[in-house]
Amino acid sequence: MGARAQILMAALALVAAAPARGSEWAIALHGGAGVMARGSLAAEEEEAIRQALARARDAGAAVLAAGGSAVDAVVAAVTLLEEAPQFNAGVGSVFTSAGTIELDAAVMDGRTRALGAVTGVTRTRSPVALARRLMERGPHVFLAGEGAEAFARAEGLEEVPNSHFMTERRRRQLDDRRHQGQGAARTAELAFGTVGAVARDRSGHLAAATSTGGLTGKAPGRIGDTPVVGAGTLAENGACAVSATGSGELFLRTRVAGQICDRIRFGGERLGKAAAAALAEMAALGGSGGLVAVDSAGHVAMPMTTSGMYRAAATSRGLSLVAIYADEHPPE
Ligand code: ASP
Repeated sequence: MGARAQILMAALALVAAAPARGSEWAIALHGGAGVMARGSLAAEEEEAIRQALARARDAGAAVLAAGGSAVDAVVAAVTLLEEAPQFNAGVGSVFTSAGTIELDAAVMDGRTRALGAVTGVTRTRSPVALARRLMERGPHVFLAGEGAEAFARAEGLEEVPNSHFMTERRRRQLDDRRHQGQGAARTAELAFGTVGAVARDRSGHLAAATSTGGLTGKAPGRIGDTPVVGAGTLAENGACAVSATGSGELFLRTRVAGQICDRIRFGGERLGKAAAAALAEMAALGGSGGLVAVDSAGHVAMPMTTSGMYRAAATSRGLSLVAIYADEHPPE
């Protein structure tokens, strides 16, 4: 073999031996953060939560492992979490102060920066499906209330009565809050249950999706961080994808998701450091919560300022976890 051919062979061998970094996939998801003391959940309740998280993780991971898109993966995971009554999204959402349910959701494709966001949804069964449809059909990227509902109807998405989303547990939370009056802020902290997912697909594209009922006892018309791009949801190829849960007003004021991606893109920070810094700033202003994030290389971060966050993750490198308590798994 000539010298040139030898060099070519060596180069080919190197390529073959190199880790298939480009085709790695990763998914991380959450079902809300809050004050969670070990033993405070009944054993069956904890088991149901872990199983729901695992099902959503596996649904998203199956999409990615088969070469599907990050958008398909995050929507698959969030759709299942919306249907699980344990979480504050879709069925099982928290009540407004008027005793109704108003839902927010967003989906973003990091490859194209396509975005679909909806707020104040009361009748569309799957707010994440609605956000995705808006992302695909446009021309707008953010619709509210009746306008969002009309778009859903025109698109043939399933409609349900508002009572479809209501559960006794959440009604009791509203009653508790009403009785507590001023002291109710503490209850809200326990109630973060927003769901969300982020993913990197085999082609290296990122996506994020988040869906929520918001905060217990919120004023009708209140909009949290979930549907606001750069606050509770963001996906930017080359930087990161983020889905957050927590005190929405504080995530909005400190634009947590945008700050993390900017720190990576313009400051060269690694994902874990950027996420911790953005959360610290949010917490310093009096907020609390957590987030899941993934970067272009498929690194996953799941930091929180609370004692727990329902979360799960899987990667093609063999990571596979479901966790609740902060000390169960390191944040990245
Ligand atoms: N972040 C959500 C909101 O403020 C609440 C949650 O995470 O449960 O609407």
